[in-house]
Amino acid sequence: MGENGRLMDKRIKPLRVIKASVMFIEIDGWMAKLRFSACHFIPNHPKCGCLHGHTYAVSVRIEGEQNGEFIIDFEMVKNIVNRICDRLDHKVLIAEKDPRLRIDKKESVSIEIMESKKRYMLPLEDIMFLPTRSVSAEDICNYFCAEIAKELRSADNIKRVNVRVDEGIGQGAGCEFEM
Ligand SMILES: [Zn+2]
Repeated sequence: MGENGRLMDKRIKPLRVIKASVMFIEIDGWMAKLRFSACHFIPNHPKCGCLHGHTYAVSVRIEGEQNGEFIIDFEMVKNIVNRICDRLDHKVLIAEKDPRLRIDKKESVSIEIMESKKRYMLPLEDIMFLPTRSVSAEDICNYFCAEIAKELRSADNIKRVNVRVDEGIGQGAGCEFEM
């Protein structure tokens, strides 16, 4: 039986439309240049306790339903992420809620790491204070995820925001917010 004969065979069920259960868009921070460079330290850590720098990349996955042709325009997401990256870029990141630090904010900021008995003096304009308890990749990621989710809260079709912050190439921390 030829090709046409097979297509006409009534025993073969017609194709059903399979509905997508989950749709998402993904943006890779390295490839799409959603990156920033910043300085930080992890108090009392044997290696990371000294002020040092990284290049970070922020990758985003947004889950939701299509609103017209898009879940959300890639450009809109990139603009949001870029604005947050710009706040942190070329700054010293300090976690404002870190219980291990004593921070004294004047024109120059004094940051004392109590247990290690270290003290940094930095100009205020060089610092980006984060509302977090540390400046680990995990806490930076949580900050990004919360800020991105805040910007997208009016979009009813978006269900989940997932962010990964890479601290250099090959390692990173991720988190997910339900909308
Ligand atoms: Zn580090």
